[in-house]
Amino acid sequence: MTLESISVTEAGSALDCRRYWYWSNYLRNTGLESNAPAIPLWLGRGIHKGLEGYFRGNRDLLEGINSYVTWYNNFCTKIQRDFAYIWVDLQKELKASYSLGWDMIENFSDFERTGNSKLVGKILEVEKRYKHPILDTNRSPTNVILSGKVDLILEHEGAIYLVDHKSHTSAKKPDFSALSIDDQVTGYAYLYWRETGIIPTGIIYNVLMKATPRPPEVLQSGKLSKSKSQFTTWYLYKDAIKTLGLKESDYLEILNYYALSGYDDYFVQEETFRNEEELLAYENRTYWRMKEMREILEDPTRRTYSTPSTRGCSWCSFKEACKSQDDGGDPESLFDTLFSPRIYEE
Ligand code: SF4
Repeated sequence: MTLESISVTEAGSALDCRRYWYWSNYLRNTGLESNAPAIPLWLGRGIHKGLEGYFRGNRDLLEGINSYVTWYNNFCTKIQRDFAYIWVDLQKELKASYSLGWDMIENFSDFERTGNSKLVGKILEVEKRYKHPILDTNRSPTNVILSGKVDLILEHEGAIYLVDHKSHTSAKKPDFSALSIDDQVTGYAYLYWRETGIIPTGIIYNVLMKATPRPPEVLQSGKLSKSKSQFTTWYLYKDAIKTLGLKESDYLEILNYYALSGYDDYFVQEETFRNEEELLAYENRTYWRMKEMREILEDPTRRTYSTPSTRGCSWCSFKEACKSQDDGGDPESLFDTLFSPRIYEE
């Protein structure tokens, strides 16, 4: 196997566990993926599709919903075809996720109309893929391509912003403490710079929480809960007071809280920056990483050593194969039972 191209995501994570990357690469080349369709993963991709339609339609909600629904229908058709044996069990979970995704896109459109969104300006590109040869230490092109898809590119008052959409579990707000060094973000800024000659003014993490506003909780006393951890909004709270015939004056503080927080619990937009030195440092480490990845493919027997840890491996779909490799088994013979033909669209 030769290395022809790597993605920005791979460049950042391949060497965390060489064995994981080697097997992932093998699966990709053979068109296989995990047997159990992951609903959260699916929802994240569906949200991306919805946002893609929304921005392609110049911030048109209907286009966003259409794009999302088309994605959902295609996905269901593929699951029914390839995973008939689990279709009945999956249907309920899929329907709940489907409604959540629809609400998230609709609420995002509302949030944009409040004027508090940072995604302002002219839409230059949507889902734009950039490819550039990895440069060696003399800045000469190698024969390996670095590629990455930028979700959205905006121009506002002469400044260029790259946008990366993320969906996030609603349990807690995302931790942005390492965003200033996030490798994926740096990779997108780097590719944009090398392809256009322009260093983007900023990169915005556009995070949609996997939550939709609900009416406030009604307590046994018939009054409304004043907990500020509820996923509700000023409008829903006001509406509940009116419906239950309660006195608004008893809820002024909580109403004020939700009026001020607006959509803070649902949409978080964090901006970060990269200068030329940081992009050159990325260029340098990407070259050395690529060399190591190439060596792994050339000599997998010696170089695909694992990096096992209880915490680091809990999510890994290769756990059984990994154990088999180390206890003298034949890990790749397990792949046919552990994995199935890929159903997700790229
Ligand atoms: S189980 Fe852990 S060590 Fe093994 S391939 Fe997966 S991530 Fe790597």
